[in-house]
Amino acid sequence: MPDDPARLCGQALSWRKITCRQREEIFTLEREEALRPLSSCTDLSGEYHGEPQMDITWGLTSTDTPVLKESRYPSRDGGPDRKPCEHWEFYMTDEDLAEKMSELIYNRTQLVEGDADDLAWDLLNMVKSRPL
Ligand SMILES: [Zn+2]
Repeated sequence: MPDDPARLCGQALSWRKITCRQREEIFTLEREEALRPLSSCTDLSGEYHGEPQMDITWGLTSTDTPVLKESRYPSRDGGPDRKPCEHWEFYMTDEDLAEKMSELIYNRTQLVEGDADDLAWDLLNMVKSRPL
């Protein structure tokens, strides 16, 4: 198993497995900034993984925000892949999000840490409970 970038760029990351089709939908979503590789590893000799493997993490380079990561498992002889590709989408848990919001509030206001935390959760809950 390649080292899962559980932490990248100091951010707490969470990944959720998705299908090829979901990957395609996310990949082709219209967004202001095109997805670019944030990191990749092409290991066609299997030096690091034991068997050939290609990993890539796509994201928004302006903010180092990951969006997708995927792995392909080519065969050594250039034939069909050894096993199907795999894809994961990045998501933030409420705890991850609240922590980031709290940091931002703490850094940008005069609030003490405890109050920044409370405000972050109040804002998060407000956004989550808004009518769609
Ligand atoms: Zn796929």
